[in-house]
Amino acid sequence: MTSVEHSEVQFGRTLIEYDIRRSSKRRTVAVTIFPAGNIILTAPTGASVERLDRVVHQKARWITSRLRSVRPFAQAAPQKEFVSGDSFLYLGRQYRLRVLAGPEEVRLDGGRLLVRAPEGRGRADRIRGLLVAWYRARAEDWLPARAQLWADRMGMTAPNVLVREQELRWGSCSANGVVRFNWRVIQAPARLVDYVVAHEVLHLRHPDHTKAFWSALGSVMPDVDSRRTALRGFGGRVDW
Ligand SMILES: [Zn+2]
Repeated sequence: MTSVEHSEVQFGRTLIEYDIRRSSKRRTVAVTIFPAGNIILTAPTGASVERLDRVVHQKARWITSRLRSVRPFAQAAPQKEFVSGDSFLYLGRQYRLRVLAGPEEVRLDGGRLLVRAPEGRGRADRIRGLLVAWYRARAEDWLPARAQLWADRMGMTAPNVLVREQELRWGSCSANGVVRFNWRVIQAPARLVDYVVAHEVLHLRHPDHTKAFWSALGSVMPDVDSRRTALRGFGGRVDW
C-alpha cells in the first residue's frame, strides 16, 4: 500500500498541483499529464519532494501549456503568467518579457519588454498591473495622433480620444464627438489599429454601418475588408 503524496508549485499565476508515485525501479523523474488534467510525477523511492518541486518548476512552462490544451474550457489564447519568457505583442511585434527585481519600471529594451518589480507575494498580479498601465500609456500616446490623421483624411474634425478598459469591443463612439478605445488594441499591428481608429472616427459622421459608412471608409482605406478580417482573428490573442 502506498499513501498518496501530493505537492504544489506556484508558476506565475498558476498553481501547479501534482501527485507523486514512487517506484523502486525508477532512476529519473517523469512528468505525466493525463487527459483529465491531473499531473503525476513518477519518482525514485528516495527523491525528496523539494527535488520534485524543482523538476516541476523547470518544466512549468511546458506543463501549463499542456494543461491548457487538455482542459476542456481552456482559453484559445495562451494565458500569461507574467514571468520571464512570456510573449507580449505591441503594435504587432512580439516581445519577450524579462522580469527583474527592483523598483517598478516597464520599458522596451531592444527586442524585450523589461519589467522591474519587487519580489514577493502577488508579484505576478503586480506585474500585470504595471504592464496594463504601460500599454494604456502607449495607447494614450498613439491613438489620438492616429485619430487626428484619419479625421484629416476624411475631412472631419479630430475627436477627443479616451482609452478605456472595455471588455468586448475595440472601440466605440458617442454622439458628443468622443471616441473610446480599448487599450488592448495597441497590441495589434499598426494597420489594424488604424482600421479600428478610422472606423470609430467615421461613426461620428455615420452612426450606423450603412452602405454610406462602408463606402466612405473604403474610399480612404481601399483594403478595409482585409484589415477587418485580420482583426477578427486577432481578438483572442490580446485578452489577458
Ligand atoms: Zn462600427
